[in-house]
Amino acid sequence: MTTVQVINPATEQPVATFESMDLERTDAAIARAAAAAVSWRDVAPGDRARLLRRFAAAVDADLEQLARLEVANSGHTIGNARWEAGNVRDVLDYCAGMPERLLGSQIPVAGGVDITFCEPLGVVGVIVPWNFPMPIAGWGFAPALAAGNTVVLKPAELTPLTAIRLGELVLEAGLPHDVFQVLPGKGSVVGQRFVTHPAVRKVVFTGSTEVGREIMAGCARQVKRVTLELGGKSANIVFADADLQAAAATAPAGVFDNAGQDCCARSRILVQRGVFDTFLELLEPAVRAVRVGDPAEESTEMGPLISAEHRDRVAGFVEDSTTVAYTGTNPSGPGFWYPPTVVLPDSASDRVATEEIFGPIVAVLPFEDEAEAIALANATDYGLSGSIWTRDVGRALRVSRAVESGNLSVNSHASVRYWTPFGGFKQSGLGRELGPDAARAFTETKNVFIATE
Ligand code: NAP
Ligand code: MG
Repeated sequence: MTTVQVINPATEQPVATFESMDLERTDAAIARAAAAAVSWRDVAPGDRARLLRRFAAAVDADLEQLARLEVANSGHTIGNARWEAGNVRDVLDYCAGMPERLLGSQIPVAGGVDITFCEPLGVVGVIVPWNFPMPIAGWGFAPALAAGNTVVLKPAELTPLTAIRLGELVLEAGLPHDVFQVLPGKGSVVGQRFVTHPAVRKVVFTGSTEVGREIMAGCARQVKRVTLELGGKSANIVFADADLQAAAATAPAGVFDNAGQDCCARSRILVQRGVFDTFLELLEPAVRAVRVGDPAEESTEMGPLISAEHRDRVAGFVEDSTTVAYTGTNPSGPGFWYPPTVVLPDSASDRVATEEIFGPIVAVLPFEDEAEAIALANATDYGLSGSIWTRDVGRALRVSRAVESGNLSVNSHASVRYWTPFGGFKQSGLGRELGPDAARAFTETKNVFIATE
């Protein structure tokens, strides 16, 4: 074990230290999780439901502390951090309704009865990135637990504090030991072990497409189940007939929320040629008005980036030749700050228009007609989210069906609700999280035939 320091990205000051797990401790935790899975799967559905509700209540009682911890560890605004802790509570409550509803089928057959069961997998490994430490953890562990699996969870090395706290709350709530364990440590050590350890039957990974690809390849060796939530380069498509005021007023939140460190960020705004200049004029005051600063302040809308290294990476996308239309503001002094930035690429193939930046930079591009808008939106290996702004309901539906993306919104940027399915097309991922089928992704279907003759 080595001791690692956690840094507040808004102040660059140390917040806490934690013990990073080595291979030996990881293996021991996985062995305990495998042992606990034997009895957890046999806990009566109603009792498992009650325990998950108690876990939700423990998160609710600790909501302000969890939120403050996230502000200090991740630089999230206090408003966002409260929503994130509340999301863990809500996902637990929602999934607490699943144990009694994991229904099988009875299928007509000759000479007997045929029934199906939803069997738990065993141990599930959840690997979480630094951008949304609480919600992304909950989307994996809550339905996995509901379906009767035990969980080992690896938070990102930069942002382990709220996960560590959730690992305490689960015990306060009365869930049996080792049903849900948090293992802070390195991706190359703890995360890789989830991939290679035969007792871990499924890996749920959220993070970069690059690492996700490696996880999938590693899991293939054991035909291990995998859910991947990866990157995005989502399009916000604004047609000339749209409510341009509303489209421009909401576009900053659609991309700059969480300082753009969001896989669903609408980081390309595609605007119909006839209203391109008008839209850019309307967008400018909205971008300048984004309140960037101390994330603990109630009125702050955007905090810092997660680390100095990440800020350098983000800044590298704005080259000397890049046309910057305008930027917002950011504090000076300590902290990994970067202002909201609007760029006008020379072509749709510029790096700023094709790569996931994961920071507060948005590329605005013109299009001629519906066909070109769809072609541009789909000219990417990603396919996670996107928005369509139009007053024409037929067009809204046509474009929604044509854009190759898992989560779209019309005249809105809302694409995450715990009771609707979430996930990506193409290289944005594999499988779906949340929604009514969330627990099924953590089961195997077993078919049993019983002869009656
Ligand atoms: P990452 O490298 O994909 O890391 C995500 C998680 O996977 C972390 O917990 C990481 O652990 C772990 N990990 C890393 N390598 C692993 C391996 N070989 N085996 C198992 N687990 C492994 O993402 P990142 O470095 O945090 O961010 C890099 C870029 O990825 C970002 O700039 C952004 O473009 C993208 N990203 C996307 C999302 C998303 O939600 N789609 C989220 C985060 C990042 P460590 O703590 O040791 O790194
Ligand atoms: Mg990484």
